[in-house]
Amino acid sequence: MSEEQFSFFEAENSPRQVDFHANRQTGLDRLAAFAPYTGKAYATRRNFDFGSRDRSNISALSPWIRHRLINEEEVLHAVLKQHSFKASEKFIQEIFWRSYFKGWLEQRPEVWLWYRNDLQISLAQLEKDKNLNSRYTDAILGKTGIDAFDFWARELVETGYLHNHARMWFASIWIFTLKLPWVLGADFFYRHLMDGDPASNTCSWRWVAGLHTKGKNYVATASNIEQFTNGRFSAEMYLNKNPVPFDEDREAKIIPMPINGKISNEPYILLLTEEDCLPETLIQTDSPAAIAGVLLTNERSPLEIGGKAKSFAKVAIKDALRRGENQFGCEARLLESVEWKDQLLDLAKSHNVSIIITAYAPVGPVAEQLQSIKEPLSKNGIELSQIIRNYDAMTWPHATKGFFKLKKQMPDFIQALGLA
Ligand SMILES: Cc1cc2nc3c(=O)[nH]c(=O)nc-3n(C[C@H](O)[C@H](O)[C@H](O)COP(=O)(O)OP(=O)(O)OC[C@H]3O[C@@H](n4cnc5c(N)ncnc54)[C@H](O)[C@@H]3O)c2cc1C
Repeated sequence: MSEEQFSFFEAENSPRQVDFHANRQTGLDRLAAFAPYTGKAYATRRNFDFGSRDRSNISALSPWIRHRLINEEEVLHAVLKQHSFKASEKFIQEIFWRSYFKGWLEQRPEVWLWYRNDLQISLAQLEKDKNLNSRYTDAILGKTGIDAFDFWARELVETGYLHNHARMWFASIWIFTLKLPWVLGADFFYRHLMDGDPASNTCSWRWVAGLHTKGKNYVATASNIEQFTNGRFSAEMYLNKNPVPFDEDREAKIIPMPINGKISNEPYILLLTEEDCLPETLIQTDSPAAIAGVLLTNERSPLEIGGKAKSFAKVAIKDALRRGENQFGCEARLLESVEWKDQLLDLAKSHNVSIIITAYAPVGPVAEQLQSIKEPLSKNGIELSQIIRNYDAMTWPHATKGFFKLKKQMPDFIQALGLA
C-alpha cells in the first residue's frame, strides 16, 4: 500500500459528523477527536469536500477558534502532541493563515473601511438596478442553474458552514461567472458563516478576486469541482475559464501595530465579546468586580444575519459568561444588544470601577463598537483597556506582505510557545 493510500485508509476512523454546539467543551472534544488526523491524512485529503455528512478530512474547528472558545495555542499544542512539526506542517500552516489575515488587516484598516463603504454602494445599487437585484437574489437563494453553486448557497444558509474549497469555488463563480459585486458575496458569507470573520472573510474574497495577491485570481474549474467533490457534481457546467484578475487604483496605508492596554490592580469590570470567549486566560490578576457580555453579531451587516451564525455567537458568549462566573466567582450577565452601552456604564458605576478590561478586538464591527464607547466612558472617568494576547502580539507584526514571510517564522513561533 502506498503512503497516500495509507493515509486515506487511516483517516477512515476520523469522526465524520460534527456537533457544532458553541461551547468550549464541544470544541475541545472535536479537537481531541481530530488531532490524530492532522498529519499526513489531513495533508492528502483536506481539499476534498465530501459534503456536510462527512467532515472526516478537515477539523471543522473554525467556529470555535474564530470566537476564541478554543485558541490557536491549544490547537497547536494538541496537534504537536500527536505529530512532529514536519508531519503536521500543512495543518499548522492553516492555523497561521488566520493569524496572517488578522495581522494583515490590523495594519491596513482602510481595506475594511473600503469593504464597508463599497457594500453600502452595492446595496444601494440593488435597490435601483432590477436586473442586478434579480441575479443577486437567484444567487443567494441557490437558483442560478449552476448545480454546485446552488447547492452551496443553500448549504451555507442551512448549516452555517462551508468547506474551504467550496468557499473558493463559490466566490470564484460569484465574481467571474455570475459577475456579481464581490462585496455582496462577502456579505452573504459573513452573515451566514458560524465562523464569519472580518479578516479571513474579507481578505479571502479579495484573494479570490485577485486583489490580495496582485494580478493573481482564483479560477474555479468544473473538472476540479468534480474531482474534489468526489463526483458529487458533474463537470458539465459552464464556468468562465479565463477571467481577468481584479485591480484597484488605491493602496492601503500601513499603520503601526496597536498598543497593548494596561492591566490594573484596581477593581475592574471584565467585558466579553464574541471576538474572545476565553475569560479564563485573558489576564492573570485579581478577579473582576463583575463580568459583562455583549453580542454584536447584528453589526456584521446592514442585512439580516443568518440564524446559525447568530445562535453560535449567542451560545458562545453565554458559555463564556458561565465559565467566567465559575472561575472568578462574581456576577456575570449578558447586556441587551440595543442598550448595552448604557448598561455597561451603569454596571461600572454601580461597582465604582474606573477601568473596564476586554480582549483586544481586531479590525471589524466589534472593534468599531468598542471605539464608540470610549468617549462616553472616559467622560465618566472610566477607561477601556484592550488586552492583546501574546499570540497575536507575536504573529501579527509578521503579516506585512504575503503569507510566506509569516510562514517562515512558524518554527520560531512554535519554539516561543514552548511547543517545540
Ligand atoms: C471566500 C472565503 C471566505 C472565507 N471566510 C472565512 C471566514 O469568514 N471565517 C473563517 O474563519 N474562515 C474563512 N475562510 C477560511 C477557511 O475557508 C475556513 O477557515 C476553513 O474552511 C474552516 O474549516 P476548518 O476548520 O475545517 O479548517 P481546517 O482545514 O481544518 O483548518 C484548520 C484551521 O485553520 C484555519 N484556517 C484554515 N484555512 C484557513 C484560511 N484559508 N484562512 C484562514 N484560516 C484558515 C481555521 O482556523 C481552521 O479551523 C474563508 C475562505 C474563503 C476562500
